[in-house]
Amino acid sequence: MAGVKLVCLECAQTNRVPKDRLNDAAKCGTCGAPLVSGKPVEVDLATLSKAARVDEVPLIVDFWAPWCGPCRMMGPEFGKAAARLKGSARLVKLNTQDFPDAGQRYGIRGIPTLIGFSGGRERKRQSGAMPAAQIEAFAAQVGK
Ligand code: ZN
Repeated sequence: MAGVKLVCLECAQTNRVPKDRLNDAAKCGTCGAPLVSGKPVEVDLATLSKAARVDEVPLIVDFWAPWCGPCRMMGPEFGKAAARLKGSARLVKLNTQDFPDAGQRYGIRGIPTLIGFSGGRERKRQSGAMPAAQIEAFAAQVGK
């Protein structure tokens, strides 16, 4: 079956979504969670590392923590960008306080840090809080 591979951000099952349904209400065949929600989804480290390997749509990860002021400031901007990028990129958040191993796994030196994955590997990273427009520009470069 043709289609774009997307890992469900809730249950980590790999789904295939027809390209013309990427901006639609595609749901995970296993757990029923929306695959393309247009909202940032909090993921755990295992789900993140699988999605970063498998996803065939650019994956933008915000490495953040609740105690980090700039991270909290960027939160709403990340949400706006997620809505505008619906169908062309998925935006997720990884709480580095809940998953301290993430820092070492991805070489995170400061937060917030955005990493963009595409085609199974890291394409771009940038540290520091960004407004929504800059996050969108970042995502556009990841998809190239
Ligand atoms: Zn699922």
